[in-house]
Amino acid sequence: MNACLPSGAFACALDAWLAGQCAARSAQELPYCLEAAQLAALSSTLRYASAHSALYSRRLHGYDVCPTSLEAISTLPFTTADDLHPWEGLLCTPLDAVERMVTLHTSGTTGSPKRLAFTQRDLERTLAFFAVGMTCLTGPGRTLAVLLPGSARPNGVADLLQQALAPSDVTVSYPSPELLTPGSEDLLAIWLRKTAPHALVAMPTQLAHLRDIMPQGLPNLTGILSSAEWLDTSLATDLRTRWHCEVLNHYGLTETGYGCAVECPAHDGFHLRALDVYVEIVDVAHGHPLPLGEPGEVVVTTLHREAMPLLRYRTGDMASLLPGPCACGSPLPRLGSILGRLVRDGATGETRLAHPTKGRERSCASL
Ligand SMILES: [Zn+2]
Repeated sequence: MNACLPSGAFACALDAWLAGQCAARSAQELPYCLEAAQLAALSSTLRYASAHSALYSRRLHGYDVCPTSLEAISTLPFTTADDLHPWEGLLCTPLDAVERMVTLHTSGTTGSPKRLAFTQRDLERTLAFFAVGMTCLTGPGRTLAVLLPGSARPNGVADLLQQALAPSDVTVSYPSPELLTPGSEDLLAIWLRKTAPHALVAMPTQLAHLRDIMPQGLPNLTGILSSAEWLDTSLATDLRTRWHCEVLNHYGLTETGYGCAVECPAHDGFHLRALDVYVEIVDVAHGHPLPLGEPGEVVVTTLHREAMPLLRYRTGDMASLLPGPCACGSPLPRLGSILGRLVRDGATGETRLAHPTKGRERSCASL
């Protein structure tokens, strides 16, 4: 059991949060209640997408949109990043219901951009995940510094964290954009010493620079959430040792509404936002579902997404789903470490596995 648990019978705050959403009364009931709630949400999402999205109304024609098991999802067609271009075919709401539109920047391509849309309700579900996911790192009266570039824009990550954590009396601070440009790390360190945050949300490249500039760390700092990039385990270990603080890793894509899964202090995989994102692992070549523990491509289906649901979206990330329980005691499967990025060669059609930092089709400007 980890030390930051406010959750009574449940192993971690995320489990307690999920239990509240699926009416599980105990840790023993949680896997079953969660699965039933996921199936109901999946059916609802399939019916909603086929009724409101031009692309899915065509693509799901002839498919069963009332599955009787979660496994039946493997019979449905995939969605790929190419389907976000043109993005209008995925939109399920009128444009004036869209609260945040994010453009995914892709190098070397022309034509209309790939976009993702979110309604206020979509963003509110992300707020709920952020609030519970940050429980282990911050709390009332504490200050959180968010260093992700571009995230301070309205409904960007810093703004969402501020909205999520303000009810818990957490102060969210972020530096001016010029302090987040490459080469400004010395100025950023000065700002951090002045702000004296208790927790940080930052990218690994920023953390590596700050470790070199401030080998002793920051006096108040007790926790770091690493996000938006792949985190090298040696950097995480180094920061824990030198800065004497907790370092938790986060996995999320813009496509998953930013948040998707987060480590607990047991560092035994990423706990999933399982009632907002259903995760499958599939064989890269054939798309067949793979059992727990076997590495393959991470495929996500958004549950409850209003503006732009994504069904069986191929992320290009390689990982496995870890069978429960987590070392913290959670009985639920978790996402294992990201092992690499699948990069498809447009000329040959071949797929190769690249380092996890390569080939991601997004930029920090979308944060
Ligand atoms: Zn855990």
